[in-house]
Amino acid sequence: MGASRTILHADMDAFYASVEQRDHPELRGRPVVVGGSSARGVVAAASYEARRFGVRSAMPSFEARRLCPELVFLRGDMARYARESRRIFAIFGEFSPRVEGLSLDEAFLDLTGTERLLGPPAEVGARLRARVRQETGLAVSVGIAPVKMLAKIASDLAKPDGLLMVRAEEVRAFLDPLPVRRIWGVGPVAGARLEAAGLTRIGDLARADPERLRALLGDWGLEVARLSRAEDLREVEPLREAHSYSEENTFEGDVADTSVLEATILTHAESVARRLRRDGVRARTVVLKWRPARRRAPGPRGYPARSRRITLLEVTDDGEVIAKEAIRLLHEPAFSEPVRLLGVGVAGIQGEGPDQLPLFGEAPERQRRRELNRALDEIADRFGSGAVVRASQGRAERAGLSLQIKRGEARDPEE
Ligand SMILES: [Mg+2]
Repeated sequence: MGASRTILHADMDAFYASVEQRDHPELRGRPVVVGGSSARGVVAAASYEARRFGVRSAMPSFEARRLCPELVFLRGDMARYARESRRIFAIFGEFSPRVEGLSLDEAFLDLTGTERLLGPPAEVGARLRARVRQETGLAVSVGIAPVKMLAKIASDLAKPDGLLMVRAEEVRAFLDPLPVRRIWGVGPVAGARLEAAGLTRIGDLARADPERLRALLGDWGLEVARLSRAEDLREVEPLREAHSYSEENTFEGDVADTSVLEATILTHAESVARRLRRDGVRARTVVLKWRPARRRAPGPRGYPARSRRITLLEVTDDGEVIAKEAIRLLHEPAFSEPVRLLGVGVAGIQGEGPDQLPLFGEAPERQRRRELNRALDEIADRFGSGAVVRASQGRAERAGLSLQIKRGEARDPEE
């Protein structure tokens, strides 16, 4: 484990709902959610007052209303949250040159080696919290730990409005009693499988034979074994810049087949575009990111990430446009070697009302795309994004994408 590393995870508390309560004093102290109030609506963010009733994000709105009849529903304003996010990330940037945004309100900061300049990490965390509070009037919770996963768990346990630091010598005592579902990527299915095998705490995973975890979860079980022992070598990656939306995957083997790479790009581009549309924003820049298969240096830093980017004439939230540009980046100039990781991202995010009317005189083709995208989004909202697979994506699925996709945005952006 990189004992010398210090990672800080900063996460705004109930971000969208807190912005609303700050800007509308009459909402303070009341149970508030941002989200759709219609029959098919879903809660996007819940204030702490609403959470006391059991209301959670991603919960159907009718269920939230049943739990809390006096709940205040707000449509939300993504452009305003994006502006607020830029102010917050500017503050994060004062504390580290290495900031990796995970969503509008959440980031990792690498504090490794900054102690002489900035002071002890716990004090840095306290100053960061005070600065955010002073500049924005909002609460941010902070976790500090030797590895990313622990820092994120710590900020979650620090909520609301707290700071929790896990020192290298405290890692085992901190992790062991936690439920296995705290491990990154262990959701209800994998969690149930581990629990059925008698593995309920992270300490149980750390003590288990990794081969047993592999038998239970496939090759990914080895990764779970490493994470349970806090052997998380993932670095803070500033390349995944703040406010960008991105998705990437590591292939099971090195890939040179351009048809596989193109299909992978299409899958990622659609997913990124769906999140843009969900947030009511559009992007001006498309980024293709990859890691060459050949190791450049020993150790985890041996596979440096590369990227190419292109700025569009017009902002977009269309997966087909993003994929076309990313595929062009893939070919110009052609890759000279196989890759082990491939990602698609966008940047230059611009806010826009989600219900903005199509421009007068819009080309029929674009109108058709807009309608198609709306239909895809409805299917994804109702049945999960796995339900939306375009014909040409089949090859990417076979390339072993499913478990290893890493998103540039947390599933639960308001936590
Ligand atoms: Mg949050």
